[in-house]
Amino acid sequence: MQKENKANYNCIESLKKTGAPIIIVTAVEEAEAIAYACRDNGITVTAFCDSEKRITENLFCGLEVIHTPTLPQRYPKARFIIASQHIPDCVEQLTGLGYGESEYYSILELLKNFDVKKHQYRISQSYMSSRLAVCRKTHEFYFDEEKVYMRSLDVMVTTKCSLKCTYCSNLMQYYVDPKDTENDEVLSALDIINANVDHISEYRVIGGEPLMNKGWADIVNGISKINTEARIDIYTNATISPKDEQLKSFQGKNINFIITDYAELSYNIDTMIKKLVKYNISFNRQQNARWIDCSSIRHHKRSVSQLEEVFKQCCVKYVYTLLEGKLYRCPFIANAANLNAIPDNPANYVNLLSEQNNIKQKIRRLVKTVNFFPACDFCDGRPYDPSSKLGYDGKGMIPMGEQVSSPLPYKAYN
Ligand code: SF4
Ligand code: SF4
Repeated sequence: MQKENKANYNCIESLKKTGAPIIIVTAVEEAEAIAYACRDNGITVTAFCDSEKRITENLFCGLEVIHTPTLPQRYPKARFIIASQHIPDCVEQLTGLGYGESEYYSILELLKNFDVKKHQYRISQSYMSSRLAVCRKTHEFYFDEEKVYMRSLDVMVTTKCSLKCTYCSNLMQYYVDPKDTENDEVLSALDIINANVDHISEYRVIGGEPLMNKGWADIVNGISKINTEARIDIYTNATISPKDEQLKSFQGKNINFIITDYAELSYNIDTMIKKLVKYNISFNRQQNARWIDCSSIRHHKRSVSQLEEVFKQCCVKYVYTLLEGKLYRCPFIANAANLNAIPDNPANYVNLLSEQNNIKQKIRRLVKTVNFFPACDFCDGRPYDPSSKLGYDGKGMIPMGEQVSSPLPYKAYN
């Protein structure tokens, strides 16, 4: 990336001046707070832009959301506030669209004195507050390239799931013999990561269905001891209701439930929500949506430049994943490797529990790799913009939560 296309730290004085239209990049949840922060500072935002076409179908905070690839036709010149946590990817994409000379701004100055409690949002104030804390950290580390930073670490506590979604992007539909992870092993691996990474903003406790692992709450509490600052999100399909004592043990901690609502399949959703409200545990219920297919394991035999494109377009390449003592760059690689569906290649992971030397260096390589991993050649890709075929070989949009009755067969490329 060219130096002039780095985002600027400060923005308020520049954006208050008359100039090209101001666009907030990506209509993520925290963009709502950023729009309020602009208004509070006398900055007039023209529109949002987002790479996901379906997000552009509705207004966001009363403003239009423009599909990013079409932005140059609407506004050949623009000034950009990057709300997304993937700042370099946004700047690179916009530069590629012809905004080479444009101004890019981080949200840091805008959020410096922002009072979350002053406004109401589509999500709860407490959830917005914790999302903004992660957003701030991500932007701070953008300006500190020497540090090894993980915005998000997926902690897989089981490969068992109470549902069997045909298109599960974490590949649960292929497991014939799903297993819970060993709690001690998970916490030891997390200790190692914590000691070798400068900052982790959030842990996502996932599965399968994490509540299938009877020790899931102990792992959650263990994470909150290892890293007292981070947010912990528990991703659940609401088929299993947590026990009262488990929820009591989370009180006063930065622990949230992210509930995917699979309609009648999420048969414990009302009980779960009642309990979360009772114990004052924050949650976010995600309504039925359409998914993007990225669940096939096949060998594409791509060229290096094709692999680079697939990786460049990938929206989960920062979703670091811990599974069975190994740290991976994304959940697809973690599960494809764990299923023995792809050739074992140490370039795809860091084996935290068996590596003796240079763990820090190895984690750094995993985090800072910007081209691609060997495993990406077995993945259809997972693009920011699923309406485009750029760097993507999957089926596109698919119905959410379709079920299979037994594990799906897959080819093992060994
Ligand atoms: S609920 Fe469906 S998508 Fe979620 S982990 Fe289970 S199988 Fe995968
Ligand atoms: S493209 Fe690579 S990094 Fe992205 S999901 Fe596929 S395997 Fe993971």
